[in-house]
Parts: sequence; C-alpha cells; structure tokens
Amino acid sequence: MIKIHDKLFKPYLSEAQILKAVKKIAQEIALDYKDVTPIFVGVLNGSFMFVSDFLKEYQYPCEVSFVKLSSYQGLTSTGIVETLLDVSEDIEGRSVIILEDIIDTGRTLQQLVNLFSTTNVKEFKIASLFYKSEIYNGEYTIDYVGLEISDDFIVGYGLDYNELGRNLREVYQLNHTNMINLVLFGKPGAGKGTQAGFLKEKYNLKHISTGDVFRYNIKNGTELGKLAKSYMDKGDLVPDEVTIDMLKDEVEKNPDAAGFIFDGFPRTTAQAQALDNFLASKDMKINATIALEADDNILVARLLERGKDSGRSDDQDESKIRNRFDEYNQKTAPLKDFYLEQNKFYTVNGIGEIDEITERLSKVIDSL
Ligand code: AMP
Repeated sequence: MIKIHDKLFKPYLSEAQILKAVKKIAQEIALDYKDVTPIFVGVLNGSFMFVSDFLKEYQYPCEVSFVKLSSYQGLTSTGIVETLLDVSEDIEGRSVIILEDIIDTGRTLQQLVNLFSTTNVKEFKIASLFYKSEIYNGEYTIDYVGLEISDDFIVGYGLDYNELGRNLREVYQLNHTNMINLVLFGKPGAGKGTQAGFLKEKYNLKHISTGDVFRYNIKNGTELGKLAKSYMDKGDLVPDEVTIDMLKDEVEKNPDAAGFIFDGFPRTTAQAQALDNFLASKDMKINATIALEADDNILVARLLERGKDSGRSDDQDESKIRNRFDEYNQKTAPLKDFYLEQNKFYTVNGIGEIDEITERLSKVIDSL
C-alpha cells in the first residue's frame, strides 16, 4: 500500500504486466505499419512513459510527436485544433496513430476523432495502453488495446493523482476500504442539504444531491432538465431509470473522492437496490443511512419559509409540499426496512440548532 496526498493505493499492475501490454500493442501495430513510416502522436501528460517504452519495442521507421489535451474542458474546439496542428504540421496523406495512456468514458478520444476527421491524413488509428471497456460510451472502436481494466481510479506509469505518482513504475489502484459513504435520509425540509454541507467539509466527502443536479439541469435547459421539470413542478418523483443513471454519472465524475454523501437518493427501493449493486461493482458500499426526523408541521413551515428566498416553486405551495410528503411515505419510507435489514439505519433528531444536529450526526459517523 502507498499513500499519495491523502489517499491509499494498492498495487494493481506490475512493471512486467505493463511492459507485456506495451509489447503486445507494438507488435500488433508493427504487423500493420512496419512498411509505411507512421506518425505516432502521444497524448500528454499521461502517455509519456507509454510512448517511450512503446518506441523501444517498435524498431521500424516512424516519426513521433505529442499533443496536450490535459485540461481541455472549457477550451473551444479551435483551441484544441491549434494545439494539435502545432505539433504535427505535415500530416497530409500520412498514417497517424494516437498513443493514449488510458481511455475511459471516451470524451478526450471524441475530441481527437473530431479533430482528425477534418484533416486529410491518410489514416487515423487509436492505440490505448489501458481501456475501461465498462464505462466507454464512445462510438469509435479502439484499434489497439494493451489491457482492459476495471473502472477504478488508477495511478502510476504516467498517470497521476493530483499531479503526483506519474513516476511510479507500476500501476496502483485506489483503496476504497477506508471510504465513508453515507445516505442522508428524511422528508423534504428535514435539513439534509444543510447538514450535508457541514459534514462534507468535516469528513472531506463529496456531496451529491439529486435534487440539486436536477435543478442545475433545469437552469441550463438540458434534455434531462426538461424531462425532470414536469415531475418536479408537481412534487412527483422523477422516474427511476433517469435518476439512477444520473446518480451513476455523478459518482463516476469523482473517481478520487474519499467518500460520498447521498442526499435525496435513494428515494425508492429500486434506487436503493441499484445503488447497492452499482457500489458493489466498484468495490464500495454504503456505511450508514442516517435519518433526520422532524414533525410534518414543522417541515411544512420550514419549506414555506425556504420557498420565500430560494424561489423553488415546489416549496411555495402547501399542496405540492404535502404531495412530496405523500411520495415520501409511499415510496421512500419503506427504505427504512431495507437499511435496517442491513444493520445500517440510524435515526437522529432533526429539531434543534443546526450545529447541535451536526454534532448528533457526527456522533453516528464517528462510531462507524
Ligand atoms: P429535493 O431537492 O431532494 O427535495 O428534490 C426535489 C425534487 O427533485 C423531488 O421532488 C423530485 O421531483 C426530484 N428528485 C430528487 N431526487 C430524486 C430521486 N432520488 N428520485 C426521484 N426524483 C428525485
């Protein structure tokens, strides 16, 4: 086990396993390209070790170049084009083979594919040392793959965790055993969001509120937002398939989190089951579900008060609030038994000063 920044990582791939995968790719590419002098383009920063070892195995005529797309988020596509053309000026009519260290969802790859589709290269191929086939959702079929790996956060052999770990000769995997994953449970207005805000700081956790994600999507006019809005406006639950997929995406966006606070999810037995299965597939689990309890009349008063400032239409109308309570009683309350059976259910009195309630929650978390 090694420690990088605040996290523990366990050995995953030895140097020999990695070099074997590198050699496999080099041999496959040599079969197809040894007579054509291809241009290999490494994607920085992560691929520098791979490119170096690859070239030691690929002893035929070739050219080498690099592109850097590390923080492409927020860059316009023009920005990326300029970066790339800087690197390989004379690619017309040539065979270009991209060397990637890792392909996961395929977002970076899509940028590269878009880019090369506008050039007049003779051919464009992709080779990736590591490939997370489970979460890849791109259309492009990867041409050469070194090793298929599971969807866990890895570091080493060029790959970093917040810039450290690139110089490790082996690949390490994030160790989840000391992760804390919590479900905050309770009716609308119970204070889940407020308390999550404090707990995430105190325990260094990532807070995922499905309600907030929906509201963010509505604000930005996305397809997901348009779909969710009709349900939320009435105080009904958004369908499970939609909510579950969204939740998975949110977890996957944070592969290096020390743990999660799920707020407003799960809200149905189907969601709870899906969450258990999903976490198990990632070697993770829920440690505790903590219910914040308060009387309905207090909650209605709190929500109406909140609706005055927040502008949330579902907080401004008592009948919508009561409908959300009905949804809760029918669909969410049965989850108490689901978590009781797993010995993971805790109850905390949700009435009192905010910091008192944080203290009560912390006592439960510290006892885990
Ligand atoms: P909240 O902010 O948690 O009170 O959620 C506001 C609204 O978003 C709910 O009334 C639902 O319409 C929708 N929503 C949030 N989380 C879920 C979920 N887990 N399942 C279904 N709908 C949800």
